[in-house]
Amino acid sequence: MPVAVDWARQARWPFGAVLVDAGSGAVVAGSCNTTDNTGDPTAHAEVNLLRKATDAGLDLPSHVVVTTAEPCAMCAGALLWAKVRGVAYGTSVAKLISYGISQIDVSFTAIAQRSRLTGHPVVACNVRPDLTDPLYRRLIGETGDAP
Ligand SMILES: [Zn+2]
Repeated sequence: MPVAVDWARQARWPFGAVLVDAGSGAVVAGSCNTTDNTGDPTAHAEVNLLRKATDAGLDLPSHVVVTTAEPCAMCAGALLWAKVRGVAYGTSVAKLISYGISQIDVSFTAIAQRSRLTGHPVVACNVRPDLTDPLYRRLIGETGDAP
């Protein structure tokens, strides 16, 4: 999670994610939200990470995604389609909303439960919120939707 937080700190909207080899535990790729610099509304940290990983030829089902915040509905779908081994996230969607950060109010777990795809990822929630919550608390009072 500390590496994902480092990625998040590089972004206007502080969302970061890393890909971890499920066997070795090594961080093999990282990304952050680039919606502001690219104008691409799908350029969330998790989607950017999946694109980077597939460009590098990495085998997604043998990796875990560690992300600073609970994946949104779009990213949740992408992660399920990617069939990653696991997803670990810090700050929940509910907490982001409680901070006043606009989000689609549905949990990753709720989306995963509706999936009829094979290979559901193992999910770990509320991972190191001491590192991730401060990323979002600093956004309180800013206007607009967090992409
Ligand atoms: Zn997302």
